[in-house]
Amino acid sequence: MGGKKGLLFDVTLCIGCGACYEACKERNRLPRTVAHFLDDQLSDRTYTVVKKRGGRFIRQLCMHCEVPTCVSVCPVGALEKTATGPVIYHEARCIGCRYCMLACPFDIPKYEWGKVLPRVRKCDLCADRLAAGRPTACAEVCPTGATKFGDRQALIEEARARIRARPQKYVPRIYGLEEVGGTSVLLLSDVPFERLGYRTDLLSEPLPLLTWQVLQKIPDFVVVGSVLLGGIWWITNRRREVQIREREERKRRGASEEVSRDPSASGFVGPSQEEE
Ligand code: SF4
Ligand code: SF4
Ligand code: SF4
Repeated sequence: MGGKKGLLFDVTLCIGCGACYEACKERNRLPRTVAHFLDDQLSDRTYTVVKKRGGRFIRQLCMHCEVPTCVSVCPVGALEKTATGPVIYHEARCIGCRYCMLACPFDIPKYEWGKVLPRVRKCDLCADRLAAGRPTACAEVCPTGATKFGDRQALIEEARARIRARPQKYVPRIYGLEEVGGTSVLLLSDVPFERLGYRTDLLSEPLPLLTWQVLQKIPDFVVVGSVLLGGIWWITNRRREVQIREREERKRRGASEEVSRDPSASGFVGPSQEEE
């Protein structure tokens, strides 16, 4: 099956049923982590979440960037952008440096802190299913078509057509068309994306390309000094952010392990009315 694949998530069609969340857990054999799916966070045991934000239900998952920063910073090629779209992970190559976690503009890759041989974990756009000519598990189960699988270009055309057909309804923007050079996961909404918690401060050029262009045009001694200082500042700050999140994740893991031991938490629970 040739061509680049992707997902179109239309916020206006999502009813917050959580079927995509459950299907992802099942396909990836991931354990239950919270009593109610709307309370879950992305982690090494949860690759996609549904959240209530800005009066809408939204999804979070790896965006499968066209030129992924996570791939460009990995020193051993453990992450790879495949020809059909998925950004996949080769765990045998991974040395656990976690640069991908620092570099991802969407804060997606998570680490298996609780394991003796930890791996980086994230959505792989169901690469094995795509290779077999099947849609992603989350798109297959979505009852409303809010998550739609298809050729990336066809999804872009469809998103444009939906905006054209209902200009009063939709924000005139396809999120993921340009952000960081484009992503395989595309979003449509009837409210501004910042109200839904999506980053709207991202450049339209791929982050790895920007780094490369800057390095090409600046004399070596300036590059060495400024990139080093800028890099140290950025990595220090990003590392601090990641450390804070890691601490929260460990705390949450303690709480969720108690949940998973609670037999009353084993069933599927419907959507909560609370926003984050
Ligand atoms: S969203 Fe993050 S983890 Fe996913 S491909 Fe882009 S940079 Fe990599
Ligand atoms: S594409 Fe597959 S791995 Fe990614 S969120 Fe959907 S079901 Fe999970
Ligand atoms: S399965 Fe579809 S409608 Fe249900 S929460 Fe996921 S995207 Fe929304």
